[in-house]
Amino acid sequence: MTDDNIDEPVHVMGISGGKDSAALAVYMKNRVPDMHYFFCDTGDELPETYEYLTLLETYLGKPIARLNPDRPFSHYLKIYDNYLPSPRMRWCTAQLKLKPFEAWVETTFGDRPIKSYVAIRADEDRDGYLSHKPNITAVYPFKEDGLVKDDMFRVLDEAGVGVPKYYEWRTRSGCYFCFFQRKAEWVGLKERHPDLYEKAKAFEKSETDPVTGETKKYTWSQSESLSELEQPERVAQIKAAHEKAMAREAASKKPARLLEMFEQALDEDDDTLPCLMCNL
Ligand code: SF4
Repeated sequence: MTDDNIDEPVHVMGISGGKDSAALAVYMKNRVPDMHYFFCDTGDELPETYEYLTLLETYLGKPIARLNPDRPFSHYLKIYDNYLPSPRMRWCTAQLKLKPFEAWVETTFGDRPIKSYVAIRADEDRDGYLSHKPNITAVYPFKEDGLVKDDMFRVLDEAGVGVPKYYEWRTRSGCYFCFFQRKAEWVGLKERHPDLYEKAKAFEKSETDPVTGETKKYTWSQSESLSELEQPERVAQIKAAHEKAMAREAASKKPARLLEMFEQALDEDDDTLPCLMCNL
């Protein structure tokens, strides 16, 4: 590290692989030249995310530190008794993203004051899953400067960086098996990355209690397993519902970007927002 005055704050920014944190990195490039970029890499991210990070590194002209968890997802899954993470039991973010971030900060910068730049936009009203370490303070440049969703696309377009390729079929960054995915996105994963779909499927289990005869299901989605979801009739049903939702959006709104329509259609009944470490 190059910052010599130990009382001066260190500037760090997490890149999630999503459009907002990418836009913030571009936006801050010349405003805070001594920024330290990092990416919490669970090892289970989408190939498109890794590609996008390389593109961003070229634009920023500096590396994005890859922070890995001490143990892989499968290790923690055993610790949590095979309970796959879910919006109500989101153990994955703490173990695979937040812990490596705090360890990196401590090892690299000690107790120095840290300014952590967060890409929450001015048109968003959400908190995030942030570190509570006393030397880390969150900074929100988009909120302070009033930048909203359209500005993200503008900033990325103007820089020639664009949005990550997974936006063709999925709205959020994060692990390929992320439980925040919508049904249409699981179908997208199966079509774009059948090998990753199979890996996600392999984490699902069904166990019958020999005494009570009760069957316990461990699935990514509460309503159905990935084996059920991939049946051709079910896939056709999901795609039809998705297209209908998009058409409804298109009819009810002024012409919108495809990506926005996709997001709106998918977010229709979304009452749970994903975590900051993973999805900005
Ligand atoms: S992307 Fe999803 S599955 Fe991965 S750590 Fe974040 S919340 Fe968990």
